[in-house]
Amino acid sequence: MIESLNLDVLEKAYTGGGTSSYHPRMLLKVLVYGYVTNIYSSRKLEAATKENIHFMWLAAMQQPDHNTINTFRGRRLQEALKNIFTQVVELLVREGVLSLKDINVDGTKIEAAANQYTFVWGNAIKTNKEKMKRQLEELWHYTQKIAAAESEEPTPPDFTLISKEKVEQTIEKIAAALEGKEGVSKKIKQKLAYAKREWPAALDKYEEQEKVLDGRNSYSKTDTDATFMRLKDDHMKNGQLKAAYNIQISTSNQYVVDYSIHPNATDTTTFPAHVEQHKESYQQYPGSITADAGYGSEENLQYAEDKGIESYIKYPGFDKQQGEKHQKKAPFAAQYLHYNKEKDCFYCPMGQAMNCTRAYKRKTSTGFEQTLKQYRAQNCNGCPLRGVCHQSKQARVIEVNHNLIRHKSIAKEKLQSEEGIAKRKKRCYDVEPVFGNIKSNHKFNRFMLRGKKKVTIEFGLLALAQNLRKRAA
Ligand code: SF4
Repeated sequence: MIESLNLDVLEKAYTGGGTSSYHPRMLLKVLVYGYVTNIYSSRKLEAATKENIHFMWLAAMQQPDHNTINTFRGRRLQEALKNIFTQVVELLVREGVLSLKDINVDGTKIEAAANQYTFVWGNAIKTNKEKMKRQLEELWHYTQKIAAAESEEPTPPDFTLISKEKVEQTIEKIAAALEGKEGVSKKIKQKLAYAKREWPAALDKYEEQEKVLDGRNSYSKTDTDATFMRLKDDHMKNGQLKAAYNIQISTSNQYVVDYSIHPNATDTTTFPAHVEQHKESYQQYPGSITADAGYGSEENLQYAEDKGIESYIKYPGFDKQQGEKHQKKAPFAAQYLHYNKEKDCFYCPMGQAMNCTRAYKRKTSTGFEQTLKQYRAQNCNGCPLRGVCHQSKQARVIEVNHNLIRHKSIAKEKLQSEEGIAKRKKRCYDVEPVFGNIKSNHKFNRFMLRGKKKVTIEFGLLALAQNLRKRAA
C-alpha cells in the first residue's frame, strides 16, 4: 500500500544537499510497520532493522540509526503525514471497505510524555495575583493612615487588571510616601521590600505562563501543549490528574477516517474543529455523524444542522428519558410542562399560565451565543403542589432554551428511528473498539514524543497502523 502512495509532499521536506539520506519511502515503511507491530521506540526500531527479518526486508537491508528514524518521524513527517494518511483512507474508500459519508465520532485521553509533577495551574496564577492585589491595597491603606497629609491620591489605584508596571509604580509611590516617616512598622517595611524585589518578576513569569495556557487551566512544564486531565485508566486509583491529550477520531467500519488532537478535557468543545478537519482533508462534510451524549451540546447540534450534516448525537439525559421512571421521579420538571407557542407561555401543573418575563443571551465557554427565556408563575401561595413542584420562596421561575429544546426533539426522533437505533448500536462496535485495540491490545497508553505537532504525528502513525492492520485482517 505504501508503495502506491504519492510521497511528493514528504520529499519536499528534504532540502537537498548534505550527505546522502535514506529513501523516505523506506523509512516510512519501517516506521509504519513498527507502529503495526507495537515497536514505537526509535532505538528498538533501529535494532529491528538489524535483527528482525521483516524490518530488514522493508529496509532493503539498510540500517538507519535511531537519530535518523527520530528526525524522520518528528520533523520530516510533520507536514506530510496527514496527506499520506488521507491518501490511504481514499484508497480504502475506492476499495469499498469504508465510507466517508457515515462516520462515528468519539474521543479518548492518552497520557503525554511529560513529567506529571511539573505543572502550572491557571487558578494558582489567579489566586497569587489576587493575593498581591489584596496586599498592595493593604499597604496603600496603611500608607494613607501614616502619610495622609502628603498623599495626592487618597483613593487606592484600580488593580482590576494587575500589571507589572502598575505594581512597580504603586510600590514606588508607597515607598516614597513612607520615606522618613516615624512609626512605620518593621513588618510593613519588610513587606514592601519583598514586594519590590519579588512581585515584578513574578508578574512577568505569570504573563509568560498565561500565554502558554492560552485559555486552559493547566499545562506541564515538560510538555507545554499537554493539559492536566482525569484519565479513565487510573492505575494508582487516586484520581490524580495527568498531563494528557484529548484524541478525537472518526471511524467507519472500524477504520480511522480522521483524527485530531485537542487540549480540552471534554469532548463537547472539540466537535466543530474535528469535523472541519474532515472537510479540509476530503473536501466534503460527512453525510451523517453518530456520537454519544458527550457531544450533544446546543452548539454542536446547531453546527451539524448549519453544515447540512445528519446528526445522530445523543444529548445529555437522552438515556434517562427513555424509561418512564424519569417522568415518574420528576413529574413537574420544566421539560414536562405544556408550552403554548402562540401565547409564548407554559402551563404549570396546576394549569396556571407561566408568562415570559425576560429574554436574554448568554455565551458559553467557547463563545457560542445561547438565547434563553424566563417564565414565571403568577402566584404559588397556597398551592397544594408547592412542596413537590419547586423549592423557591417566590413564585416558580423556569429558564428555557427553545433552540436547545428544538434540537433535542429532532435528535430524539432520529435516535429512536429504526436507522437511529441501528447507528447507535453500530457506534458501540465501530469507534470504541478502535481505541480499545490501540490502547489495550497494542499497549499504546503514553506518547513517546512531546508537543502537539509531534503527538499528532504519533497518533497519525497509530491510525495508519490501525487501518493497515484492519485491511490485512
Ligand atoms: S407551586 Fe406554583 S407553579 Fe407549581 S403547580 Fe403550584 S401554582 Fe403551579
